Amino acid sequence: MDTIVLKFGGSSVASYERLKMVANKIIDFYDKNNNTVVIVSAQGKTTDRLIKESEEISKDPSDREMDVLLSSGEQMSMAKLSMLLNEMGYPAVSLTGWQAGIYTNNTNQNAIIENIDATRIKKELAERKIVIIAGFQGFNENLDITTLGRGGSDTTAIAIAATLEAKNCYIFSDVEGVYSADPNMIKVAKKIPALSYKEMLAMANEGARVLNNRSIEIGEKFGIPIISKSTFNNESGSVISNVIEEETIKGIVKKDLSRISIVGNGIIRNTKAIRRILEVIENSKIDMLNLDVTETKISIDFKNVVPNELVSKIHEVIFN
Ligand code: ASP
Ligand code: MG
Repeated sequence: MDTIVLKFGGSSVASYERLKMVANKIIDFYDKNNNTVVIVSAQGKTTDRLIKESEEISKDPSDREMDVLLSSGEQMSMAKLSMLLNEMGYPAVSLTGWQAGIYTNNTNQNAIIENIDATRIKKELAERKIVIIAGFQGFNENLDITTLGRGGSDTTAIAIAATLEAKNCYIFSDVEGVYSADPNMIKVAKKIPALSYKEMLAMANEGARVLNNRSIEIGEKFGIPIISKSTFNNESGSVISNVIEEETIKGIVKKDLSRISIVGNGIIRNTKAIRRILEVIENSKIDMLNLDVTETKISIDFKNVVPNELVSKIHEVIFN
């Protein structure tokens, strides 16, 4: 019997109507006699909403409590989907990160999966259950809940697929696959039927948002074909695998980056200021790309657009 992993993103599970479409997709796979494992994200904008609500309570809530809060979004989705499948006459069971054996390191808010003990998942599959797992969450050595960073449900799905040696990992979302350019920007962009892990990783790192980059690395490492497809139609999606074309052009991506510069004569010798600035950046866990120091200026390039809050924190340490 083949094992299939299906992941449904936030917009795919956003409402009862959509959950029904998702349930029917799951049933299609299950009825073909597949071991069916499903990973879900939080419904719609739930995670964003929870973050906003936490900000109303505290300017700087602990990462541990943020993980407890944010992981609740995925738990709502998994319970609702499992209930719905049961209601439709199908045996389903929902599992949290720890119930599914997803063991991570201690980095709350941005944890890395270290190991998956799939005993419980396999037991449920052996009983012919559809196993629904909360994406984006795991547990650490203190038995605390951890989360894998924004968009982390893709990582959960592909890591579970690797552990179960699944035939494929389907990533269902509101887009039909990977496009030659962002279809919101370029109307004539075309869907790419197949691309290699390396090509997909380059697209994701340079700004394409279809798949989370860590998940692609895991897919490549374990050779799990990833299929990006729409929840809302039956069009063929994009297959990401180790099939490589000799010479090809797949897509074009645009990414907005940030540069922060601090100006003042002799800054190159102001080691105290430089150290403080670097400390602020390190504490905010924002990825730097490049640092350039001259007689009158320090310029720091970042891998993404950074929040204005970073500028205000740097301002604080250099002027106070
Ligand atoms: N719900 C989490 C987020 O919005 C994880 C995910 O959707 O993959 O970032
Ligand atoms: Mg999400």
